[in-house]
Amino acid sequence: MGQKMSRRFVAGTTVEELLAATQEVNRRGMSVSVDNLGENVTNAEEAKQSAQLYHQLLDLITERKLDANVSLKLTHMGLDVDEKLCREIVSGLAEHAARVNSFVRVDMEGSPYTQKTLDFVHELHERHPGKVGAVIQAYLIRSEKDVQDLLAKRIRIRLCKGAYKEPASIAFQKKKDVDANYVKLTRMLLKSGVYHGIATHDENIIRETTAFAKAEKIPAEAFEFQMLHGIRRDLQEQLVKDGWRMRVYIPFGTEWYPYFMRRLAERPANALFIAKNLFRR
Ligand SMILES: Cc1cc2nc3c(=O)[nH]c(=O)nc-3n(C[C@H](O)[C@H](O)[C@H](O)COP(=O)(O)OP(=O)(O)OC[C@H]3O[C@@H](n4cnc5c(N)ncnc54)[C@H](O)[C@@H]3O)c2cc1C
Repeated sequence: MGQKMSRRFVAGTTVEELLAATQEVNRRGMSVSVDNLGENVTNAEEAKQSAQLYHQLLDLITERKLDANVSLKLTHMGLDVDEKLCREIVSGLAEHAARVNSFVRVDMEGSPYTQKTLDFVHELHERHPGKVGAVIQAYLIRSEKDVQDLLAKRIRIRLCKGAYKEPASIAFQKKKDVDANYVKLTRMLLKSGVYHGIATHDENIIRETTAFAKAEKIPAEAFEFQMLHGIRRDLQEQLVKDGWRMRVYIPFGTEWYPYFMRRLAERPANALFIAKNLFRR
């Protein structure tokens, strides 16, 4: 039943299901970032297996000429088990991405990992320029400084609001403060001349972003919007129709539970929506 419920946000459990979903999104004129769900592996073997699947994905994406890159979490690649191994694994993936003209996005996890993750991305960018990107969470008070540091190296950023529960000592708690920081950081990204991802389903922020881009004469090809699979498909399509770029983040795999719970927590109405649809046929 859990698997059935998660279907609203997760493309499936197999690589073939993921590739079919990717093809369908590409057909709608959008690119994709694929995410093999999983986090906090507990041994080196699991980390290596997770990486192996990403290598397979990079090859399949290339073979089938799909418009997609990959997103991964460092704790899924063994960050908590062996940092050196994690570095080798992600570096190997970035090298593979460079070979097939793709890109690796390093997702951002909870605040205990923020600094380590950013350090990793800076280091990987040195070795594989342009092939690795960071994620910045607008709810973190530190983010403006992190954005400045990343932009100084011309590292690509995905800007999101942030999905973890963080304390008031380090994170804005009110939606209006998070949104204001999001808008401020978006402007910094758009003016940087580097290709970034504006990852949100927030219509007000999207409206503000397109207005800013037009006013500043920033072309639609200079950045992309990003949204999650299964959320605001109407808005995704409208943006593409209006000439903006859209990338859909498609998660898949058997370890869907933490991802699914974060999506439910963001919008309690989802629980009701899913419950209703679960018993409908
Ligand atoms: C492409 C992408 C990648 C992301 N990567 C990361 C990451 O690496 N690290 C991280 O911490 N977070 C990540 N996130 C999640 C992000 O931080 C937010 O938790 C999530 O996107 C909800 O915030 P919002 O910007 O859509 O705005 P909100 O203010 O939360 O929502 C605005 C509107 O969007 C719609 N909406 C938002 N969430 C949902 C939902 N779950 N179900 C249905 N409708 C919804 C609703 O209409 C809502 O009114 C990512 C998000 C996206 C789109």
